[in-house]
Amino acid sequence: MVKVNPHFKRTEREIIFPVIEKKIEGKNNLVNLGIGDVALPLTHSIADAICQATQEMTKRPIGYGPSAGYSFLRDALAQKHHICADEIFISDGINSDLAGIQELFDISCSIAVVDPGYPVFADTNLIAGRNVTYLPCVASNNFIPQPPNAHVDLIYLCSPGNPTGVAMSRSNLEMWVNYALQENALIVFDAAYASFITSENVPKSIYEIPGARNVAIEMHSFSKSHGFTGLRCAYTIIPEETGLIPLWNKRQNTKYNGCPYPIQKGALAALACPDAPKQVQSYLACAQALKNGLDGTIHGGIDSPYLWWQVPDGTTSWQFFDHLLEQHGIVSIPGSGFGKSGEGFVRLSAFTTMAQVKTCLERLNVYAH
Ligand code: PLP
Repeated sequence: MVKVNPHFKRTEREIIFPVIEKKIEGKNNLVNLGIGDVALPLTHSIADAICQATQEMTKRPIGYGPSAGYSFLRDALAQKHHICADEIFISDGINSDLAGIQELFDISCSIAVVDPGYPVFADTNLIAGRNVTYLPCVASNNFIPQPPNAHVDLIYLCSPGNPTGVAMSRSNLEMWVNYALQENALIVFDAAYASFITSENVPKSIYEIPGARNVAIEMHSFSKSHGFTGLRCAYTIIPEETGLIPLWNKRQNTKYNGCPYPIQKGALAALACPDAPKQVQSYLACAQALKNGLDGTIHGGIDSPYLWWQVPDGTTSWQFFDHLLEQHGIVSIPGSGFGKSGEGFVRLSAFTTMAQVKTCLERLNVYAH
């Protein structure tokens, strides 16, 4: 057999989703607050734009598009972010961009990722053969990652965070931009949940911080903000100042043939869609109701669709997960699945409906009638 990449072995931590699937198999009438997927249907104006674009393809051939995305979408996004369209790269998801971005950097680069965090940050680098430093996001630092004492080259931050649901304030982000400027480091800023931010002192983009354009790449997605998890469209901002545009162009031209035309038309319609903010508001209302209604210590859920629920003393994440499932028919995600520092918590997703939230709270006997 051909020798395989040995580094895949390094990602062999607990893979939670198959375990959860098995545990809920055959159980009916569950309130599923586990997976962070959309719970509301696609907005009509987006679906119409996708259908129209597909119909257009029956009238004239529309084949391969530019790997960086069509200018109609790049221009609209450039306008939204007040930047140059050349700095915007459309893709089929943040996941793909996270997988690719590390390829721009030398194998010797040191990497830091938030812990608990979105597993792709660490895993893409581990698979590439790099070592990873973990930045604990725990109660003692209010779940805000702190710059390490030593130098790191590449830092993966996510705000509002998944799974903690905690968003970084302006001063938190200033701390990181200053670190990156001092250390000649680069921040990969995952803004997948930026549209859930409502607090005033929480920036929706790292570029609100002076100097950030020199040291940060930022990733956005239509997945959670506009219900695109099944359609696939996202974009990465690579500021001119980073000097990385030619490399990313080269990488994308080599490995990616572009997000489908109808989907990009759908994304364009999404930018103008008045219902999208309503869907986000609806998820945020579910988060708020859960946060108000649940007993115990709950973090997040303000600028985020995720709640980070501290498990009772003497219990592990998995034990509390089992308790919620077996005693109440509620599906959560054990925090330990997101990294070592996630032990002692479960994540609840507010990508649900108010009816499900009410059922959840009734089952836990905490819903006030
Ligand atoms: N980043 C974070 C923090 C996420 O939670 C997710 C999906 O859950 C993604 C990225 C993936 O986004 P996309 O659907 O654009 O690939």
